[in-house]
Amino acid sequence: MRVIGIDLYRVRLPLRFTFETSSHRKDAIEHILVRFQDESDLDGWGEIACGNGPWFSAEYVSTAWAVATQFLAPAVLDEEWRHPADLTARWSGIAGHQAAKAGFDGAAWDLAARRDGVPLAVALGTSPRAIPVGVSVGIEKSVERLVERVGGYLAEGYHRVKLKIRPGWDAEPVRAVRCAYPDLLLHVDANGAYRPGAESDEVMRQLDGLDLAMVEQPYPGRDFVSHARLRQRIATPLCLDESIEDAADLDTMLALDAARMVNIKVSRVGGLTAALALARRCADHDVGVWCGGMHEFGVGRAANIAFACDPAFDYPSDISGSDKYFARDVVDPPIVARNGYVSPAAGPGLGLAVDLAWIESIALDTSRHRALR
Ligand code: MG
Repeated sequence: MRVIGIDLYRVRLPLRFTFETSSHRKDAIEHILVRFQDESDLDGWGEIACGNGPWFSAEYVSTAWAVATQFLAPAVLDEEWRHPADLTARWSGIAGHQAAKAGFDGAAWDLAARRDGVPLAVALGTSPRAIPVGVSVGIEKSVERLVERVGGYLAEGYHRVKLKIRPGWDAEPVRAVRCAYPDLLLHVDANGAYRPGAESDEVMRQLDGLDLAMVEQPYPGRDFVSHARLRQRIATPLCLDESIEDAADLDTMLALDAARMVNIKVSRVGGLTAALALARRCADHDVGVWCGGMHEFGVGRAANIAFACDPAFDYPSDISGSDKYFARDVVDPPIVARNGYVSPAAGPGLGLAVDLAWIESIALDTSRHRALR
């Protein structure tokens, strides 16, 4: 098959509430939607899900737009392919820019699954099932508000809660949540905000006593050595997120024994093709995996759900309902969690209707690429 049309849409959706992490606050999410069209007029949709600015990684929406429009679209357009991995090979010469590649890879998987008339989860080789999910809770204005917000999510049925932390907002709020909800499956995520030293050692020591499922990415992404040293000092498992962009990073983690869990984000590792390989490699090495997110719109979120059906996933994933974040999503119906579970749609591909007319009307920028005939 050939992709003879590619449309890229830069879309900004306001968040229902401001979300704050160790590095920044945001009240809207700006992602790029990728629409492939083949010769038989079938569509495939993907989502480039990276930050509004260069905080989570060096890549962000403006760099992704440049790479997608200038390099990825020309590399894919009018090329013959059968399997999405064939297209991955087309951009193997482009260094980095994992989220931009993931958006194109996702569109290829959706298109291939629609062509074959199977749900994306089936195309990926997983078994569609209801998967347990958790929520990520940002830094709140007060400890009381945090405890209240967590209580609200538990009432909605979520199976676990992740709290964002940073220096100055760590042991105290986490302890308050633990005291309020003693049986809650709870973990923390620092997004690399700590630096090795006596001060962070003391914070980690205190967190170690709060019965957490894991501490996620306490140190910056490239600092595998400090994670390996911390692992020797605390009993709570460590999980890496920003550190793992490809298989070589996973090898480094394993060689240094820097962590025993990985938060796999499809957009961070370059797409579903790479993410599946990474998840199975983790399982082979008895490394726990779960699926993280980048506040995806419905397109990316539906792909994450299909991916997280893989049996390698043994911890509730960060795929809460999109209705929790956005008043109106780009897919219809929106993705909703029920009693802490989300399920892949039954139809071919992503299985959801993508609201093209609305996307066209709200896009901040559009880039169209057509094969010459
Ligand atoms: Mg994280």
